Amino acid sequence: MIIDLRSDTVTQPTPGMKEAMFAAEVGDDVFGEDPAVKKLEKKCASLLGMEAAVFCPSGTMTNQIGIKILTQPYDEVICYKGSHIYKYEGGGLGGNSNIGTKLLQGDRGRISIDEIAPVIGNINDVHQARTSTIALENTVVREAGSYYKIDQIKIISEFSRTKGIHMHMDGARLFNALTETKENPSDFGKYFDTISICLSKGLGAPVGSVLVCKKDLELKARRIRKVFGGAMRQAGYLAAAGIYALDNNIARLKEDHQRARTLGKTLESLAWVKSVMPVDTNIVIFEVVNGLTAEKCVTTLGEHSIKSLAFSAAEIRLVTHLDFTDAMLDKTITVLKKLSFT
Ligand SMILES: *Cc1c(COP(=O)(O)O)cnc(C)c1O
Repeated sequence: MIIDLRSDTVTQPTPGMKEAMFAAEVGDDVFGEDPAVKKLEKKCASLLGMEAAVFCPSGTMTNQIGIKILTQPYDEVICYKGSHIYKYEGGGLGGNSNIGTKLLQGDRGRISIDEIAPVIGNINDVHQARTSTIALENTVVREAGSYYKIDQIKIISEFSRTKGIHMHMDGARLFNALTETKENPSDFGKYFDTISICLSKGLGAPVGSVLVCKKDLELKARRIRKVFGGAMRQAGYLAAAGIYALDNNIARLKEDHQRARTLGKTLESLAWVKSVMPVDTNIVIFEVVNGLTAEKCVTTLGEHSIKSLAFSAAEIRLVTHLDFTDAMLDKTITVLKKLSFT
């Protein structure tokens, strides 16, 4: 039994999902003729209380398109300093959009008005870059899946509107956040111009992300998707997996969170673990004690058939998901408790 906790992207499609994929009605989506893609896009837009949606191959692409259609070259985007758009998208903000960034610390990645307001560029001062967009990540992957409450988002969004600043959400794991807050996804649309959601993380689809947006941004988004090489043909086979994931795999996310919390508690009790970040959703990040490295720990876990990810020199990440069962949880706990590095 191999236990893969590196990421929630490692899941295999279930038999039910594969059946839905094989049964998909497809067409050439570049001509706008794929019924399954259209169905997925409509479903996502209505789910998030927005008007339009564009299906893309990856969450990196949906983020990069979102930011590009909201900004002009030389603008700045405000975001958390460890955010995926800044840290894990290969420098795309500079390369794709020719923009700069104002990076904020946030409270475990959740940025607030108190931090945002002072760094907004003065539009009347030619020395300063124009702040055109605020990007929020929800959940925050670098901070062990911390999440925003919608009230925090509302405050930022209302403030941004008064300044003429756009709002983007990297909602790769938005449904993990909503599992905890019990908030309604359709309440989110009104606070953003663009929202990116991933179908291939906790939701368990093999491929795909969706950029949900305002109607007047849709054509622009489709144009940039084409430019980026992300316009696909009979993509309905993938969209069908996404529809299946939305229908079947949201309610079960709470199981992933429960298992992640159990892992977190176990880790807290171990002598070779220095600290564990609070486990808010499905991501566990812990630091090993001085003298031990993340690399050494990852290798040792690997020898016990447990795959994990070194997140920094002394930090390790474990992510729970659809294919991580209770039997695997039991085995992981047994291994963790048995390990000793002295
Ligand atoms: C995974 C992830 C993405 C998108 O990644 P892709 O691998 O390109 O689909 C975006 N934002 C966050 C926070 C993520 O964790």
